[in-house]
Amino acid sequence: MARGTPPRDRTLLGRLRETLVTTRLSRRVWHLLDPDVPRTQAVRRLRALVLASAATLAANALIAAAADEPPTDQVAATSPSTTTTPPPMTIRPLTSMAPPGHVPVITRVETTDPVAFVTIDDGFVRAPEVAAVLDELDMPVTLFLVDRPVLDGAAFFGSLPGTVESHSRSHADLRGMPEDTQRAEICDNAGTIARGLGRAPVLFRPPYGNHDAATQRAAAACGMAAIVLWEQSVERGEMRFRSAREIRPGDIILLHFRPELPGELRMVADRIAAAGLRVARLDDYLVPDAP
Ligand SMILES: [Zn+2]
Repeated sequence: MARGTPPRDRTLLGRLRETLVTTRLSRRVWHLLDPDVPRTQAVRRLRALVLASAATLAANALIAAAADEPPTDQVAATSPSTTTTPPPMTIRPLTSMAPPGHVPVITRVETTDPVAFVTIDDGFVRAPEVAAVLDELDMPVTLFLVDRPVLDGAAFFGSLPGTVESHSRSHADLRGMPEDTQRAEICDNAGTIARGLGRAPVLFRPPYGNHDAATQRAAAACGMAAIVLWEQSVERGEMRFRSAREIRPGDIILLHFRPELPGELRMVADRIAAAGLRVARLDDYLVPDAP
């Protein structure tokens, strides 16, 4: 299924393809690479220049794709590893998107309802006006938090109209880590959130969006129903689009707890309204009601 292809790979391939197409357009330059062209010293120099330029373009595309993840605060792992396993959850209607024992990875919700979802990550910077802005905008949010902000800011997060979900214990880049390490990062964070805020999380967002099959298994083992990525992110007040160039029904939007967050929330509210959509609760669409 197309949804199973990591968005990052699509970005990488897309940029490489663009680079190749752009380069092919310069046929007058490319023909210098033709072995039939007489090899004067000038032509040899031009050939070398063309090859070097193409290599630079390709390298830039790779670097740009690798840097595509929004920057996020780094935190060192500090708390000891203790494993807690909340009861397993199911997710609808996405259970078929992942093999048994793996949670699905989503960047948006398949729905025709005129809704979009706002998510806010990390939690280190807690601007006091955020609660008032969310109330004023009547905007429900999903917060993906790491351990330290939950421990330091339970009162702040409890005052927001949102649901707190898991973002790992220490904000480590999980991709490629041993599965038991990944499981400790997710399960420990789930336990911290459950103890600190009174509800066990059921959705997981890996730091930087980086994940692998072990992350999908570890998240399932920790009671998560899905790995939730995003379609749009907000960076320095600007909306960045991952695939489509507009906000569509079901899209998930990523912001971070930063000093600029209040203004960014107003901007996002305007963009969602301009798209003819309203903000809905992510949990209402992903996680079934408790029996
Ligand atoms: Zn993060």
